[in-house]
Amino acid sequence: MKKESKKKFQVNDLEADWGGFLVDADAVAALPFFDRAAKATAHDDPDIVREAWDQRRTIVTSNGRDFLRYIQEFQNPPNNPSCKDLWGLLVIPNAQLARERGLESVRRGLSVLQREQLRWPGAALLNLYVRLTDTGQVEIRRFKRCPFCEHPERGVHIAKPWDTWYRSLPIVGGAP
Ligand SMILES: [Zn+2]
Repeated sequence: MKKESKKKFQVNDLEADWGGFLVDADAVAALPFFDRAAKATAHDDPDIVREAWDQRRTIVTSNGRDFLRYIQEFQNPPNNPSCKDLWGLLVIPNAQLARERGLESVRRGLSVLQREQLRWPGAALLNLYVRLTDTGQVEIRRFKRCPFCEHPERGVHIAKPWDTWYRSLPIVGGAP
């Protein structure tokens, strides 16, 4: 019998499309922590958002505030003709010690349910906002998904047990 943790996909088989991490210049210290991480070639934040979209990567930065704004602008253009949802945002602390401790705790994924760790391909597909705090906490919110992804029949199906957990997350920019 296969163990739960050996299953190829956790959330949805679309997670196989994930391209890894895209690391902003201010967060290059994160590069060696992850198996699949590349430094962003774009320099301006909005261009890095576009690069992350093109390569289906999760943005890693220390500059969460600006990226939150650019990501939300990118994902919610007026009269959106198709899905522009990104693959999540990981914000890491500036301080080296806090950064290393935090990164170590999320190297493979997010420890959100007791039974099984949510590995990064699945976490990325869920388009999460993950912030490592200076005190070693991992704060997780979710970006509001587009109407195509949220469609009851044709949208992105989220497998159990992640669906319930995902729905319980606060939405970025929503009520605290
Ligand atoms: Zn979408």
